[in-house]
Amino acid sequence: MADLDVDLCVIGGGSGGVRAARIAASHGAKVIVAEEYRMGGTCVIRGCVPKKLMVYASHIHQEIEDAAGFGWTIPSASFDWATLIANKDKEIARLEAAYTANVEKSGAKIVKARAVFEDAHTLRLSTGEKVNAKYVLIATGGAPNHGAAIPGIEHVISSNEVFHLPKLPKRIVIQGGGYIALEFACIFAGLGSDVTVIYRGENILRGFDEDVRAHVRGEMEAEGITILTGCHVAKVDKHGDAFTAHLSNGSSIAADQVMFAIGRHPSVKGLGLEKAGVLLNPVNGGIAVNEFSQTNVPHIYAVGDVTHRVNLTPVAVREGHAFADTVFGNRPTRVDRNDVPTAVFSQPQVGTVGLTEADARAQYTHVDIYKANFKPMKATMSGNPSRVLMKLIVDASTDRILGCHIVSSDAAEIIQVVGIAIKMKATKADFDATMALHPTSAEELVTMRTPSARHVRQAAE
Ligand code: FAD
Ligand code: NDP
Repeated sequence: MADLDVDLCVIGGGSGGVRAARIAASHGAKVIVAEEYRMGGTCVIRGCVPKKLMVYASHIHQEIEDAAGFGWTIPSASFDWATLIANKDKEIARLEAAYTANVEKSGAKIVKARAVFEDAHTLRLSTGEKVNAKYVLIATGGAPNHGAAIPGIEHVISSNEVFHLPKLPKRIVIQGGGYIALEFACIFAGLGSDVTVIYRGENILRGFDEDVRAHVRGEMEAEGITILTGCHVAKVDKHGDAFTAHLSNGSSIAADQVMFAIGRHPSVKGLGLEKAGVLLNPVNGGIAVNEFSQTNVPHIYAVGDVTHRVNLTPVAVREGHAFADTVFGNRPTRVDRNDVPTAVFSQPQVGTVGLTEADARAQYTHVDIYKANFKPMKATMSGNPSRVLMKLIVDASTDRILGCHIVSSDAAEIIQVVGIAIKMKATKADFDATMALHPTSAEELVTMRTPSARHVRQAAE
């Protein structure tokens, strides 16, 4: 088969790879994208998008429960898992086609194949072809961790499988206390499953603000989700279609599905990196890159989850774009990863940007905390016991807002916009000068006048 000569070979047609390929092609480069599975990558095929569609499906149960207080009588509602999955798959197929079309429209060529390095400029495709590339972009993403090889690990599913379960599990055990575990715990609880979360540490969402962690846990428990901390799944037995998860504390839980969501690792295995001379970052196991996403081999770059920096779709997209502008657009571009807004699509959602209270107190001498914990207006008539948390962290010396943390049904939508203010280095006075928009939950962010706590670090601290 004929060899292909290109300016750029992108390995991976996910968030970072697709953006890089399109922009590089628009700068005039001859580009090939190798994708071994489906165009769109994790986010589109088995991450953000299908997850969010399932969050919508799950949240409808809350709307139905809330309806009675507003005078609605809804005949007993029923949910059909097969319909949800089929409609979700249809939408994902539409998006995959749109991604494919957009890449092709840009002039880049897609090959549906696995690519591995033969040497620093040559890639071998699983179709048998060889690609000679002037530049290579590694955008192979990441994959779910399986954890220790406990007995019965073969019965455990990850987020890869959860989108295609043949039926809704009546009982599910989910191990992990991070983004994926909590998002799916809430999805399944909303759809009617009996959910148990198993987390090895003291409290879920390590790394998030302490008030957020406590609030989310309380809200999830109030929704009937069992959260067991300080233990892990030590063994899984299968009996027919059901399972028993045996925990390290000696107890056991019967379930129809056991899922682990215990982090992800960069997809570097079997890529032939050693043949290309590309080095890994010894700290995180991702591909080591500089501020321009360049590896130790000057014509090989890496972006997105495979570098294990900030594993979020918009960051991978920005990195892919910056790479293409740097290498093919004659515009060296660094990606700013400070103050990245992020959300956990639990129910209620978490929206967060900037420093936590603990981080702010460790870094700044005078820190003021503004906090509101209130019943949202809707709950006054729906009777829903859920409460909203809003928290601002302020550097009292400069009045700058250092962080904002929200737990509420619309937290993700709100935090995106707060992210702009924080990026612009807004002060508490700027927030105070902003007119409230009434009646909303978000107006609380511009009406909190008195700090709930002031922390002044003594010189010796
Ligand atoms: P990917 O999108 O993973 O793309 C890598 C691609 O490379 C894949 O398509 C893979 O098949 C392909 N590939 C790998 N090796 C090869 C090879 N040798 N040859 C050819 N092709 C190869 N982020 C958010 O911002 N918001 C969210 O709500 C969110 N939700 C998520 C939910 C879940 C369940 C998961 C798992 C992730 C979620 N993420 C979310 C994270 C987000 O999906 C990733 O950060 C993002 O997809 C990373 O993009 P990427 O381009 O680095 O890699
Ligand atoms: P996270 O890093 O968010 O959470 C992993 C969880 O698993 C933590 O609670 C961790 O505990 C626990 N854990 C890790 N190793 C083990 C182990 N060996 N045994 C038991 N528990 C363990 O990873 P996720 O898998 O939830 O998600 C991966 C990444 O994908 C996220 O970090 C995020 O970057 C991205 N993502 C983003 C989403 C969004 O933007 N909404 C949604 C989903 C994913 P501990 O805290 O003690 O280390």
